Amino acid sequence: MREIYDVIVVGGGMAGLSTAYHLAQRGARTLVLEAGDLGGGTSAACSGRAQVSEGHLDPLNLRLVRDGLARFETLEEQLGTPFEWRRVGYLCLINSQSLWQDWEERARLLSSASIPVEMLDLDELRSAEPYLDARGFLGAAYSLEGLLNPFLFCRAYAKAARRSGAVLRPHSPVTAITRQGSRVKTVQAKGRHYAAERVAIMCGPWTRRVVALARADLPIHHTHAEAFVTEPTSLPLHHTIGLADFYETIHGRARAVSVGFTRHLDGALVVTEAVTQSDQLHRHTSPWGLGRIAADLVALYPELARTRVVRGWGIPTPYTPDDEPAIGWLPGWDNLFVAAGFLLTITALPLLSEWMAQMILDEALPVALDLYSPSRFSGTRSSSH
Ligand SMILES: Cc1cc2nc3c(=O)[nH]c(=O)nc-3n(C[C@H](O)[C@H](O)[C@H](O)COP(=O)(O)OP(=O)(O)OC[C@H]3O[C@@H](n4cnc5c(N)ncnc54)[C@H](O)[C@@H]3O)c2cc1C
Repeated sequence: MREIYDVIVVGGGMAGLSTAYHLAQRGARTLVLEAGDLGGGTSAACSGRAQVSEGHLDPLNLRLVRDGLARFETLEEQLGTPFEWRRVGYLCLINSQSLWQDWEERARLLSSASIPVEMLDLDELRSAEPYLDARGFLGAAYSLEGLLNPFLFCRAYAKAARRSGAVLRPHSPVTAITRQGSRVKTVQAKGRHYAAERVAIMCGPWTRRVVALARADLPIHHTHAEAFVTEPTSLPLHHTIGLADFYETIHGRARAVSVGFTRHLDGALVVTEAVTQSDQLHRHTSPWGLGRIAADLVALYPELARTRVVRGWGIPTPYTPDDEPAIGWLPGWDNLFVAAGFLLTITALPLLSEWMAQMILDEALPVALDLYSPSRFSGTRSSSH
């Protein structure tokens, strides 16, 4: 016996759940198969920032930031579950003249696209963050971004998807995908066979492994990231903090740390991240990683030296060769869709997940998503879509 759906979404992270919600809203009989807990992959490991200033500056990404952020104003109400959404200022700390010039240009471009970014000199930075040891910095780029609780964000989408009719099956790892011609015939999980008009693989860093079940390939790579959360601190820290050389620091290095943090409503700090290269997809932490993040945090905020770490975690995090996401039909397949390797995921998803649902259902899109097409990695175009 096979269960039959219009769409099967493999992967119940924030991407799969939000897309399932929009699919179900459009009347598609939708099934989500998730290997572990819903929202328990990379989505559970993230800081919850709706970033605005650090993405690519092409028109599509700028639109996703501007319009994605606007959607948050009513999203809790729309989904019917609060997820601690609030607007918080982000200070991107700048430690070199060349980065300052880069960020001045970035601030100019973003501001002209109605995403205001302001350059703060050292005195302005010190008065914005009095407990920061600002020695070595020239100043910061300030933007007003968003912050949410990623667990509640996933839960809000999961509940709304269920309410709209989607079937969600956690603890159901997909172990086989069978093919008939250029179509997926069945998806198998926990000994059950499922069939659908369309199948969407949204498995974050595990995407390449799941795509391989269909004997296909997609270059979704991963690095391994470590992070931790502290006990609540009463230190008045007003901003989300990050370093402007984050990407330069982590790119290509066997291991590297770039410290940054967000603050929970109760005052606990989510502190990221130590990055290592690993062929394995695992969830380990290391004394090196957590220790170095803590040391770098205390170098920035000496007053935090006595604040205790409550919990640390490690998680693979995906990326593509050109750092744009892979979203679209897999070349050579008529009904196999993939979406992974997002940048500024939280900011983009409220809008992007609706567009992905529309793409999966062959509805007209308000914008072309060719920039993200998986076919750019193979030189071939997908067949009928
Ligand atoms: C430390 C850290 C901080 C971050 N901070 C932010 C931030 O502040 N803002 C932001 O926007 N982004 C942030 N990110 C990135 C963000 O977490 C990811 O982009 C996002 O969670 C990706 O969501 P996803 O649904 O694509 O993947 P995931 O959440 O990883 O979901 C994929 C799911 O697929 C499931 N799966 C795997 N194999 C199978 C299988 N065989 N069958 C069924 N299911 C399977 C997994 O269990 C998983 O739940 C951060 C990442 C890290 C590591």
